[in-house]
Amino acid sequence: MSKNIDWSSLGFGYIETEQRFVSNYKDGSWDEGVLTGDSQVVISECAGVLQYAQTCFEGLKAYTTEDGKVVCFRPDLNAQRMSDSCKRLEMPVFPEDKFVEAVAKVVEANIDYVPPYGSGATLYIRPYMFGSNPVIGVKPATEYQFRIFVTPVGPYFKGGVKPIVIRVSDFDRAAPNGTGHIKAGLNYAMSLHAIQDAHEQGYAENLYLDPATRTKVEETGGANFIFITKDGKLVTPKSNSILPSITRRSLMYVAEKYLGMEVEHREVYLDELKDFAECGLCGTAAVISPVGKIVDHGKEICFPSGMDDMGPVTKKLYDTLTGIQMGRIEAPEGWIKVIKE
Ligand SMILES: *Cc1c(COP(=O)(O)O)cnc(C)c1O
Repeated sequence: MSKNIDWSSLGFGYIETEQRFVSNYKDGSWDEGVLTGDSQVVISECAGVLQYAQTCFEGLKAYTTEDGKVVCFRPDLNAQRMSDSCKRLEMPVFPEDKFVEAVAKVVEANIDYVPPYGSGATLYIRPYMFGSNPVIGVKPATEYQFRIFVTPVGPYFKGGVKPIVIRVSDFDRAAPNGTGHIKAGLNYAMSLHAIQDAHEQGYAENLYLDPATRTKVEETGGANFIFITKDGKLVTPKSNSILPSITRRSLMYVAEKYLGMEVEHREVYLDELKDFAECGLCGTAAVISPVGKIVDHGKEICFPSGMDDMGPVTKKLYDTLTGIQMGRIEAPEGWIKVIKE
């Protein structure tokens, strides 16, 4: 029985659900892992994660499709990306096939929390890992915990999708030493001050530039950029220091194979932004949020798509990708993992 939750009034927040997956790494290997009702984590006061921030995470969603199945979207890519994050942080990799199995197990165990089709809500899935044993000299932990919890979330933007205004930031998103491509709390911790500062100045988000030359567009705090040219091409920044968004990679495929668009994955310069017709931020949470305006130190870059609605090409991309996720449009081979028929 579906939980008695008012799905349409859910925000993007944490609601404790019944079961989570926990596996521990010790003496060089992972244990089998279990589902548990215990939502509390108890670790040493000197745990590696608390002292030296050895932790990374992933984020994906489960959906109820039009025909009543429960599915999730490309979890194998989250497994792969988490392996990459772990390697960069000297953490042990949780086997990718086991990661996907564990995601399915947790969703199944909390199936009553999967919002119904058409509610606008989804089940957000949060896998993460952290160093758990005491570490005081600077070195990697030797014991780790891998967990997955789920929480139902409402539409990222309540009351419909409205274009946002963002600013070109003087802060860097991540430490400029090559950790920008991993999904880790350390990058988010670095971005919190920049976000608060942007909000205080009336901006929804920051556009971060490449720290070395400050001429190229990287990404925002938690989403990659897509741009649409006036002749209908999809352009998206290429950089080794941005997070390889699964939404962005999926949109590139959808643009080319479903919508017959030309796609350019290349360096994008700040001074070419004024020539684009549409701009959007893409990630699992919001899929695409349209950007109406970018302010670069007082200079306004206003996209022709305006401040009222998503641009027409962005909308087509949005509708096609969400159509694939919700089972209204046939998905490419391997994109949809069915959890419950
Ligand atoms: C998670 C994340 C994204 C979006 O990636 P998706 O796989 O599309 O959810 C983009 N940038 C950063 C920094 C992120 O952490």
